[in-house]
Amino acid sequence: MTKIFCIANQKGGVGKTTTAVNLAAGLAQVGQRVLLVDLDPQGNATMGSGVDKRALSLTIYDVLLESASVAEARAKSDKLIAAGCSYDILGANRELTGAEVELVDVERREKRLKQALAEVEQDYDFILIDCPPSLSMLTLNGLCCAHGVIVPMQCEYFALEGLTDLVNTIKQVHANLNKDLVIIGLLRVMFDPRITLQQQVSEQLKNHFGDKVFNTVIPRNVRLAEAPSYGVPGVVFDPSSKGAQAFVAFAREMVERIDTM
Ligand code: ADP
Ligand code: MG
Repeated sequence: MTKIFCIANQKGGVGKTTTAVNLAAGLAQVGQRVLLVDLDPQGNATMGSGVDKRALSLTIYDVLLESASVAEARAKSDKLIAAGCSYDILGANRELTGAEVELVDVERREKRLKQALAEVEQDYDFILIDCPPSLSMLTLNGLCCAHGVIVPMQCEYFALEGLTDLVNTIKQVHANLNKDLVIIGLLRVMFDPRITLQQQVSEQLKNHFGDKVFNTVIPRNVRLAEAPSYGVPGVVFDPSSKGAQAFVAFAREMVERIDTM
């Protein structure tokens, strides 16, 4: 069965998009069929996958407004095909900012993405959704169609506090809109083991959330930060880097978890 996961955290700059593109590439590399949905008007996941957001004629915006199907709007990246780890991309650009307003008067507006993805689900093992840094109608559309949420987080002092809003939103969506929704796990990202505080927060996370914390830890690694400017995920840009290897390990952990879910 296809697994649909949101990569969400209402904070910006915590590593959502980096996680989304590298997990997509890592999963593709281990043989999974993947669709990456960019739900952020910034379009970083689109560009970071090698698809030019300015050149797209159809995007997630058209899908949400029901003027195109996912099958019509999805794209592929030549760079990813050449690298042998290709996944499909449902891209986004600034146009998506308008969707929030245009959907206000629409019935079942939070279910638009769910309806659209239902038509292509059978084409994929995984559908990953890169959410914007807010708990908006766009994020709600993601949460309504997902089986679970992957939460990337930095091991900083306020990490646990910041989780409360997201956890409450997930509980509300679970109770009212999507009975399937669970937190799949917390992913520690941009981790620097030399920083004592990060080790302490990491321990706190494990004490608090137990096996909801993924075993894989993503290190702070400059190659992951450089990759987007080349229009490829770090996993493709420099496969031998620590960051790339961590994301491939994460993809494998993900596949194993699904088998036991
Ligand atoms: P978000 O999508 O949550 O806003 P991003 O994935 O765009 O966050 O990451 C924010 C910034 O941090 C980007 O410049 C990205 O390249 C960088 N970054 C993310 N993860 C890492 C990492 N593990 N090591 C180094 N830099 C990272
Ligand atoms: Mg992002």
